[in-house]
Amino acid sequence: MQIIHVAAECYPAAKVGGLGDVVGALGKYLNLSGHRGSVILPMYNTKYISNHSWELVFTSIAQLGIGDIEYRIFTDPLHTLGYELFLVDIKGLLDRDQVYGYEDDSTRFIAFQTAALDWISKSEQKPDLINVHDHHAALIPFMMQHCPCFSDLKNIPTVLTIHNGQYQGVMEWGNSVVIPKWDSWRWGLLDWNKLINPLASGIRCASRVTTVSQGYLKELRHHSNGLETLFEMEWHKCRGILNGIDTEVWNPETDKALAQTYTERNSEIGKYKSKKILCEQFNLDLEKPLFVFIGRLVGEKAADLLPQSLINSFHKIGRKMNFLILGSGQTEIENELNYLKQFSQNDYNAYIGYNEDLSHLMYAGADFILMPSRVEPCGLNQLYAMRYGTIPVVNNTGGLHDTVMDIGEPNGYGIKMSHASENEIIFSIYRAIECYADKEKLKQVIKQIMQLDFSWDKSIHNYIDLYESLILEN
Ligand code: ADP
Repeated sequence: MQIIHVAAECYPAAKVGGLGDVVGALGKYLNLSGHRGSVILPMYNTKYISNHSWELVFTSIAQLGIGDIEYRIFTDPLHTLGYELFLVDIKGLLDRDQVYGYEDDSTRFIAFQTAALDWISKSEQKPDLINVHDHHAALIPFMMQHCPCFSDLKNIPTVLTIHNGQYQGVMEWGNSVVIPKWDSWRWGLLDWNKLINPLASGIRCASRVTTVSQGYLKELRHHSNGLETLFEMEWHKCRGILNGIDTEVWNPETDKALAQTYTERNSEIGKYKSKKILCEQFNLDLEKPLFVFIGRLVGEKAADLLPQSLINSFHKIGRKMNFLILGSGQTEIENELNYLKQFSQNDYNAYIGYNEDLSHLMYAGADFILMPSRVEPCGLNQLYAMRYGTIPVVNNTGGLHDTVMDIGEPNGYGIKMSHASENEIIFSIYRAIECYADKEKLKQVIKQIMQLDFSWDKSIHNYIDLYESLILEN
């Protein structure tokens, strides 16, 4: 099968969060499974894209509703990443330093989707299926069916994968003029609550909708930021497919970011070496258990609860543990986490920013990873952490519900809170410290989590089965 993925992120070319990891891995593992998976991504000015040389493969003009745009398609002829990565270059719109966060994001992503479709429709060989990801690419199924200029793509099946249903790309109806000429009587397929809602449109128009875990799929029916009734109506099309992890990128046996690589057999010394580096670098106490948080500092991740929960943990449990935070996001949360540094007694620190290498060192050197998330569609951090022998301390939601079993259950290996609150976080930290004190139990749990298999080798087949059934139906 030839499958094209269209997305706003793809690791290592452009990554903000889990979307990037998953899209990159899907391309790679489809190829490893004998299919042809490729990815189309905007050509941003990210470090990776700027530092690599790209070959120009196509130049053309696409017709946006507001006028023509010139676009160019670049690729890496050597397929260094194990799949074909195609970059869409539109001068002035896509060539920015950041992936998101610009006032004209709506126009940017409509232009990206239009150029991607224009190129596909002008290519001789058409893909068997197009898999679009999140709202930035979710207008594609509508455009394939209802923009006359893409009518030759009408019969190609599409899958919309929702990595995060909270973000829907909502825009005013004024933006409808940017979309290439479309069948205006079909406006209802773009509309949700009197606004254009790309995610809602994708849910309606795609042949199938997938989300990144079964648990999250069930939640979307009841909590999906206003789309609950739509999920109810389109439920028959929806599937939950758990993400995997790229075990070549996330492998403690080969990871160059670690102080010392390790396997399950020498994890004690391997983890200790990375913890030592972290403790030296961040002024922490090597003797105490190390809890880390890695991620976006936003309400979804319950990062707003962290400052007070950590202070209260010190008050209620005592200064028996270290905390190290890596993340960026809402300014108030960043400021509060920075402010706490002055009260550290060699047991608290925070790195505000994005740092891929540091995240690897933290997955290895930590004893526990803290994820009190209010919403977690799949969550990759707990999967990476477990592969590196770090015990997950998580809220029982979405993908965390599906991938972590509490140590209180038979064969359990993590610590689960029943909801995201300060008290639950403190209680979970207390339980983790108890577990840390029981060295035999700790060893057994670390061994167990390092043996769990959350690799793409296992989960890519669920995507392949879905693609095959849609292509056959066609
Ligand atoms: P989300 O996509 O909702 O942010 P996921 O758990 O699916 O959450 O994926 C998060 C990914 O982003 C992981 O690979 C994590 O290591 C990475 N990440 C998040 N914040 C940072 C950061 N500040 N520095 C380095 N990596 C980060």
